[in-house]
Amino acid sequence: MKPPRFHYHAPGSIPEALDLLAHYAGDARLLAGGQSLVPMLNFRLVEPRALIDLARIPHLSGIGDGDPIVIGAMTRQRAVEDSPIIARRAPLLREALRWVGHLPTRSRGTIGGSIAHADPAAELPLILVTCEGSVRVEGRAGSRMIAAGELFDSMFTTRIGADEILTEVHVPAVAPGSRHGFEEYARRHGDFAIVAVAVSIEPNAAGGQQVRLGASGVGQIPQRLVAAEAILEREGLSADAIAHAAAQAAASVDPVGDANGSADYRRHILGTLLERTLTRTTAPIAATA
Ligand SMILES: Cc1cc2nc3c(=O)[nH]c(=O)nc-3n(C[C@H](O)[C@H](O)[C@H](O)COP(=O)(O)OP(=O)(O)OC[C@H]3O[C@@H](n4cnc5c(N)ncnc54)[C@H](O)[C@@H]3O)c2cc1C
Repeated sequence: MKPPRFHYHAPGSIPEALDLLAHYAGDARLLAGGQSLVPMLNFRLVEPRALIDLARIPHLSGIGDGDPIVIGAMTRQRAVEDSPIIARRAPLLREALRWVGHLPTRSRGTIGGSIAHADPAAELPLILVTCEGSVRVEGRAGSRMIAAGELFDSMFTTRIGADEILTEVHVPAVAPGSRHGFEEYARRHGDFAIVAVAVSIEPNAAGGQQVRLGASGVGQIPQRLVAAEAILEREGLSADAIAHAAAQAAASVDPVGDANGSADYRRHILGTLLERTLTRTTAPIAATA
């Protein structure tokens, strides 16, 4: 398979890249790690007139140590996975990254590319939604922040304009004493998940626990499982409360069945995965209670 012909540009700055996007008026694609875009070109799923490679733009890579943790959009997924800052302050992100594709794809693929691509089964959009992160996008009129809850419109579609560039990913740092868990079900290791769940439990100021639960594969975009969160915050983290929350989560989603599994099958996997992940994540809390 060969891609269609395209013009190739490698701008040296964001303003230059934005001028190119304006020049092609919606008929250009930004190239980050190429791990999704190049296959799409090869299969002729997209046929843009030009590719605008972000690789030569300085300051688009790197991981800050503040709160939120600011990660440059062009930071390779592997660099995020290996970062001691991420291990210490955003361990859920690190755990999820191990499930993203394979080592070679993570060595090229970027955090910004995965989020902008918005595959409904991808791990990084799910983590951004679960931990209430956000992204910075730059346009010719300036920059703006988009909260993760507002970012994903439908499968492969975000609220990033065709004339804008995602430049930063903001991930809140976790509080000391927090717990996290991530699991997914796929046919083979490295495949996109059929269903994935993310769990974050942080101590709150009132002496209780703030519970954040997310799932992908059960809708067009990553979902927060708010009814299940409320059950755990109200009833605690006992085995009964976890079973109740998992059943509620399965009942609350409205998946679309496809060749990988019917809607009922996805609901069933969600309940099972969530119960298992919550049990594993809360075991140390239960042991000290
Ligand atoms: C064999 C294989 C297995 C994989 N398995 C998984 C998996 O299990 N889970 C998973 O999540 N992913 C998986 N992927 C996809 C991989 O994670 C990609 O890295 C990711 O989807 C896209 O990141 P990228 O940097 O390669 O972006 P690219 O492929 O370069 O770009 C993807 C899209 O995002 C746009 N884009 C890129 N950067 C920006 C930006 N800064 N601002 C605005 N738009 C931008 C591009 O224009 C393009 O439309 C797999 C890929 C392969 C080849």
